[in-house]
Parts: sequence; structure tokens; C-alpha cells
Amino acid sequence: MKFDDLQRQIIMDHYKHPQNKIEQAPEGYTEKRGLNPSCGDDVTIYLLLEGDVVKDLKFKGDGCSICCSSASIMTNEFIGLTISEVEAKFDNFSQMVSGHEYVEELFEDAICFNGIKDYPARFKCAIISWDTAYKLVRGE
Ligand code: ZN
Repeated sequence: MKFDDLQRQIIMDHYKHPQNKIEQAPEGYTEKRGLNPSCGDDVTIYLLLEGDVVKDLKFKGDGCSICCSSASIMTNEFIGLTISEVEAKFDNFSQMVSGHEYVEELFEDAICFNGIKDYPARFKCAIISWDTAYKLVRGE
């Protein structure tokens, strides 16, 4: 399945009006930077963990529309989850964008990236913020 109009619209909405995007590093958060040199994407993820629950996630940085909208969507998808739920969701997102089977019900706006599998060159753009947040949550 290629991107349809609704998917494009969700991606562009998050690109133009990103959620949880900040300019200054927040205090008391751990952070991790993710780079995708082939496209120029450069995002830093900020995490506030409470016990094993993701209390808050923010991101900073620049990149293409896919990268920035994916980071915005990722924060919404991960906030409120436990570490093991983040791991499960990341695994399924990774499966989805690489064209493998995944659990559709896990996702809200992130489902709009299921068309990425037809554009392998953009895979890294879609997953860089997710991969960085996943490693951050796992303390890697
Ligand atoms: Zn990109």
C-alpha cells in the first residue's frame, strides 16, 4: 500500500505543527541524539522516566518532513507506556516500516507510516526518532 491522501495529511500536520518539540533542553531529562547522515536528519530525544513508565518525551532538532513528523508522532505514541510496552511498540513499528507483519491496533497516528515500506530509502528517516527513544528508554 502506497501513501494515501489521509496518510500524507497526517504526516504534513505533524511536520507543520509538531507536538512535544522544544528548542531548549528541559531540566531533569535524560537525552540521546540520533543522526541519519544520508538525509541530514538530526534529532535529540529527551526522556522523563518515572519508575518504569515514560512520564514525558520531548524532541529537538531538524530533518526532513518524514523524520520530524515521525518524531512528533513517536512522542505521542510512547508517552504513558511502560518500558516493556515501548519495546513491544518499537518492535512492531520497525516491522511495519520494513514491510513485515505487525499489530495494527497498537498504533494511532503512527499507522500513517505503513507506506514507508515502499520507499526503503526513507526507512531511516521514519525510524530514527523511534530507535533513539527506544535506546534511551532502555538506558542504552
Ligand atoms: Zn530524512
